[in-house]
Amino acid sequence: MNISLKTVKIVSLAVSVVFAGIAGLEFYEHRHFREAVVPSPNLDEVKKLSDYEPSLKDSVNDSNVYVFDSGVPGGTALILGGTHPEEPATNLTASLIVENAKVEEGRLIVVTRANRSASTCSRMGEAYPAYYSVKTNWGEKKFRMGDRCSNPLDSWPDPEVYLHYPSRQMLAYMDIRNLNRTWPGRPDGLLTERTTWAMTQLIRQEKVDIAIDLHEAELEYPVENTIVTHEKGESIAAMTSMVLTAELFEVPLSMEFSPKALHGLFHREVGDHTEAISLLAEVAEPMLDRIRGITDEYLLMTGRDEFVMKAGEHKLLYAPIDERGWPIDVRVGRHSSTVQKILEFYSMENPDRAVVISGVPGYGEVIENTLGAYFHNPEEAPEGSVYFD
Ligand SMILES: [Zn+2]
Repeated sequence: MNISLKTVKIVSLAVSVVFAGIAGLEFYEHRHFREAVVPSPNLDEVKKLSDYEPSLKDSVNDSNVYVFDSGVPGGTALILGGTHPEEPATNLTASLIVENAKVEEGRLIVVTRANRSASTCSRMGEAYPAYYSVKTNWGEKKFRMGDRCSNPLDSWPDPEVYLHYPSRQMLAYMDIRNLNRTWPGRPDGLLTERTTWAMTQLIRQEKVDIAIDLHEAELEYPVENTIVTHEKGESIAAMTSMVLTAELFEVPLSMEFSPKALHGLFHREVGDHTEAISLLAEVAEPMLDRIRGITDEYLLMTGRDEFVMKAGEHKLLYAPIDERGWPIDVRVGRHSSTVQKILEFYSMENPDRAVVISGVPGYGEVIENTLGAYFHNPEEAPEGSVYFD
């Protein structure tokens, strides 16, 4: 048989177009997938990040800002999820709070997708699952799995060296798209800098007293299962870590101070540039470990991986792991209890600026009943009470 070179080229081109088309459709669907949120009836209003930085208006990072007001005088707390969307326990905990919180004193503000752009792409070469789902008794609730940094489609090109504003510290080029390296942000910077600027302005304008940013980390990383606190939050972090370690958590929750010389980080810059106390919480996520095996939704949700366990046997990890893994209910339960204990101790120290919340399940409840038991069916929610992130 005599196949000409021209035929080979045409067939190759046709095959590539088919694959590019299929992949393109999947990327498009992922980028435009909308996550439904059914806030608790205590919701006062939903603002947008563009209310604080107008250049974000209608952009990918014009995220929802859920504001709960008890009507009782007190302080204001801010909780951020989804700073790094490849750390799903963070936006899941923020969503859990939004869907269940009853605010008894003061005000609570929650952003579930602090960097929406980063939730619309994947880490190149890492074969992450595109989505993950939480099982509920009304079906599966689906979420976008994302990357650590903003989508290059939204912020490109990166500089050769990222000069952090205002410290002028030199950071790695891609960290200009990393929401936890661009605090306090600036109004005339790139997308990620403008996003942190919007939240810095939110903290100032809403007179936020205490701000908490949620994260997950690989077990190979030393900043793990811990609270990282600005000096202003020392006693709150210490009490939270002591009480939760002694009374509730199987794996201890430690605390450490925000380094003074490392810039762009939430726990450093929010405390330095605003009136708020800033604390960051970390929990273990085996899927982020370099040494992991198959990177699928199962690993994402169960945190079970034989290779990571093997690394643990060789004492290469900073967190324990056994065949139970680090299930999403444990990770979200830890974050939920950590946030609630922080607010309890903050309110004890500042009774006239207290923020008291109830109705949010903690560690024991989330593990016992599963996370899905606390998410509400958007199709059964009253009209106008479903929001999309
Ligand atoms: Zn993180």
